[in-house]
Amino acid sequence: MKTSVVGYPRIGAERELKFATEKYFGGALSEDELQRTAAELRLRHWQKQRDSGVDFIPSGDFSFYDNTLDASVMLGLVPARYRAADLGKTGEYFAMARGYQGAKGDLKALAMKKWFHTNYHYLTPEIEDGAKIVLDASKILREFNEAKAAGILTRPTLIGPFTFLRLSVFTGKKTAADYFEPIAAAYKELIRKLEDAGAEWIALDEPALVCDLTNDETAFFAKLYGAVLAAKRKARVLIQTYFGDVRDCYKELVNSAADGIGLDFLEGKENFELIKKYGFPGEKTLFAGVVNGKNIWRNDYAKTLAALKTLAAAAPKVVISTSCSLLHSPYSLKFEDALPEGCKAYFAFAEEKLTELNDLKQILDGDAAPETLAENERLFRTNRFVPDAASAKKIAELKPSDFERKPDFYEREKIQRGALKLPLLPTTTIGSFPQTADVKSNRAAFKAGKITADEYAAFNRKKIAECVALQEQIGLDVLVHGEYERNDMVEYFGENLDGFLFTRNAWVQSYGTRCVKPPVIWGDISRAKPITVEWASYAQSLTDKPVKGMLTGPVTIFNWSFPREDVPAKTSVLQLALAIRAEVLDLEAHGIRIIQIDEAALREKLPLRKADRYTQYLDWAIPAFRLVHSGVAAQTQIHTHMCYSEFGDIIKDIDALDADVISFEASRSNLSIIDDLNRCGFKTQVGPGVYDIHSPRIPSKSEIEAALTKMLAKIAPQKLWVNPDCGLKTRGVAETTPSLQNLTAAAKSVRKTLPR
Ligand code: GLN
Ligand code: ZN
Repeated sequence: MKTSVVGYPRIGAERELKFATEKYFGGALSEDELQRTAAELRLRHWQKQRDSGVDFIPSGDFSFYDNTLDASVMLGLVPARYRAADLGKTGEYFAMARGYQGAKGDLKALAMKKWFHTNYHYLTPEIEDGAKIVLDASKILREFNEAKAAGILTRPTLIGPFTFLRLSVFTGKKTAADYFEPIAAAYKELIRKLEDAGAEWIALDEPALVCDLTNDETAFFAKLYGAVLAAKRKARVLIQTYFGDVRDCYKELVNSAADGIGLDFLEGKENFELIKKYGFPGEKTLFAGVVNGKNIWRNDYAKTLAALKTLAAAAPKVVISTSCSLLHSPYSLKFEDALPEGCKAYFAFAEEKLTELNDLKQILDGDAAPETLAENERLFRTNRFVPDAASAKKIAELKPSDFERKPDFYEREKIQRGALKLPLLPTTTIGSFPQTADVKSNRAAFKAGKITADEYAAFNRKKIAECVALQEQIGLDVLVHGEYERNDMVEYFGENLDGFLFTRNAWVQSYGTRCVKPPVIWGDISRAKPITVEWASYAQSLTDKPVKGMLTGPVTIFNWSFPREDVPAKTSVLQLALAIRAEVLDLEAHGIRIIQIDEAALREKLPLRKADRYTQYLDWAIPAFRLVHSGVAAQTQIHTHMCYSEFGDIIKDIDALDADVISFEASRSNLSIIDDLNRCGFKTQVGPGVYDIHSPRIPSKSEIEAALTKMLAKIAPQKLWVNPDCGLKTRGVAETTPSLQNLTAAAKSVRKTLPR
């Protein structure tokens, strides 16, 4: 038996790469020093995998920002505007990743999107009509050779051409088909080069194959791989899929010239059926994804061994693999000595997953100690906690009317207009203000027991007062308290609800140098006491303008936590909805007139396949949100926020959340979403983000005016809100204040142009 890892986390056990890169951005680290840190980390990660007994170790999974961006660079697909700025190779790379503003110009970053249904973001390849694909294999070769020099023969791993083209945005008239020849040629050349360097296996990641594919797309895939794999001489090529099943292209996959096919048997249950039904070619190797790359729970060995047995009956050559890249897992349990007694045994992070791969291999080879399997079986036979009977009863007693807000949207819109008296194009923010060093050190001091709860709260109140004063001075219409008490929009609620566990160091990369530390849903969830009321009502006491209460919605808390595997998602989400509903009612009772319930991640876990969207998700996710706010009065305005704008295909469902206002990201994407909203008769008021907060760039007043003018061509002024595209917590004060000043100034001047 052999084992394989699809990809390994690159940020470092203690986020070394993040800190080094941020230092480099700040000018405190040279490019050479950054490269040295990166090389050290790569080596450490390869050695760890080797020492854990992994047979197929990936290289090329490293990235300074994102592997899709790396692929764009590898193919020479750097849009002309970045080339023209003449920033040098590294400068150009980071300009595409995060924008550039300086002596050489003012460039926005490439559009950032969620990587399938994960919370990882990739940078969208942008292909202009004039673009020429020219291979630059230096990164992948350098990394392969680096490992080789250390005595480790790795498997170069890259995004495959099919997924790459499918994720690309074509800015001109050309389409993927126009790039068939050049992209096939580039991957052919790449395979040759890697072979010459001594690679025995090469992996091409093709997660796009688990999406719904038309016959044309399937044919395109077959033709593309026909061409690409024709270049192969001695190296073997693995087509690696993950995140689902390959029902639309199974035949094309097994008929291709690939030597290995990687399938995910955890999220792609249907893959079992495909293999049973159509068989698996004897000459190919099946890389069986059975160790979860995305969760944090121990693998159930007995179940996995049974699955491997079924697979081995159909496929003679099986390799035990992670289900997807371990990029989506935290690094190591070795930092988690603060977990409650007995909990740690239930978890496996990336390093421990390497041990699991090896355990499974040894059990199958008959080399494992008998205790290995017995210890694992004990874990899955014991109860982890005592179930909460009261919570189960509450959920069982919910009635249809609990999921419906009265009166209807239009009636509420009238009432709220009268009650809130906001100007046209009301200005607001998404909630958080910069989490400056003082905010973080106050929290750290409190957590370390160095200051009292009163001292901690007094500091936050001071920040809130400053934030309210600043917003009044800037002239925003709907204020926020700034979210200084929150480390993270999900972790904060997790910490204040029962049923969650927290880790010290379970960071997972979200985009670039940004990592998140999802809480763990360990048991049944409930709210013991109000969470945000104190902060929101303090802020409201300082101003006559409405202060928005800020909450995170149940679906987002769930999607950005590590979920349980012993109950359906719906159970945890309804428990969360009841907890947040109680918070909504408390805010309202304390005089908060506008409440924003962020569902930043609602779209994220939407099943990749259309056929599964309702039954496996929307049928309970949308009602759960309605349950949260159905109890408020008509004049209380409910907002929601989403961190993306790709909801073209679920617009009706977003409208069915029945919020009064929704803000969403729009600044890095075009405004076609608004046409979709209009086409669907979307009723909710909208605040498409007018500038990008993921980059330190300051948008000018005229740029925001232009964005608003464009929006007003499609949205009635009575429906339009003006806001940045997300929370400001990752930004500095230096760029936030002028950006918001430009935003309010732009709204004011555009208002003047509106008919009264
Ligand atoms: N209210 C949150 C904030 O402003 C929303 C963040 C998000 O959507 N990711 O930070
Ligand atoms: Zn957001």
